[in-house]
Amino acid sequence: MATETERKTGVEALTSGTMAAVWEWVQNKIPDGVEVFDAHAHIGADVDGRTMTAEGMRERMEAADISRSIVFPLNDPNARDDYSGPNEVVWNAHEEHPGFFVPFFRLNPHLGYDREFSRCLDRGFRGLKLHPVSQNFELDDPRVTRLFAMAAEADLPVLIHAGFAMERIVEPLLPTVERHPNLRLILGHAAMIEVLEAVRRFEDHPNVLFETSVVRAKDLYVLFSTLDPSRISYGSDIPYGDFPSTLHSALAAADAAGVPDEALPGILSGNIRRWFS
Ligand SMILES: [Zn+2]
Repeated sequence: MATETERKTGVEALTSGTMAAVWEWVQNKIPDGVEVFDAHAHIGADVDGRTMTAEGMRERMEAADISRSIVFPLNDPNARDDYSGPNEVVWNAHEEHPGFFVPFFRLNPHLGYDREFSRCLDRGFRGLKLHPVSQNFELDDPRVTRLFAMAAEADLPVLIHAGFAMERIVEPLLPTVERHPNLRLILGHAAMIEVLEAVRRFEDHPNVLFETSVVRAKDLYVLFSTLDPSRISYGSDIPYGDFPSTLHSALAAADAAGVPDEALPGILSGNIRRWFS
């Protein structure tokens, strides 16, 4: 027979034992009746060995009472040229779990992407994910700025990895943001390492949102202390983050920075939900 400890694996372990008090604080902090919309999560497999299935994601969402998650592929070892295989895994997750996932597709700007871009648009994907570190490109590479222009033209939101291992974020991105004021951008990991510069340069661009997953505590504190909270959206970065700890770090940073409770519904769902209603 499994012991109590053995059974409390996965999701349950994150909300029990030593995490129980943290999870209780999070539950109390989320205003009554406010849904949580996760702006950053992955389904599929990564070259680093991480995986997440649609079912695993659903299970985590249900355990943490998350209503919707934006999902897209990982740095998939089977991406080949165009990412079509991993993109289809995400699309199938969306079809098998209607209403739970907001499907984004992923591309490699180094390789011919026009066909997969239009295929995914026709398929009904709701956004594009780009990862400058994994796919090794700069945000001002002409192939990338062309892709931003295509996304702006198609009114397609773009989530950019703007966190771990990034060297240049604001300076190469600013011309795109200025050229396409209607382009809806999500800065994954809140432009960590350049957060203050990003807040200064993008604060007058209302279509740029800052997403909170897996950001250092001091950077999250800077973000919540300096930026209008209507520009901040919660994310988990599952399978790298998890719901209890990422909710805790976002809400605790907001609390420490003196963000009023009235701003929490926007941070937790409203700011991003209005893009996908
Ligand atoms: Zn991620």
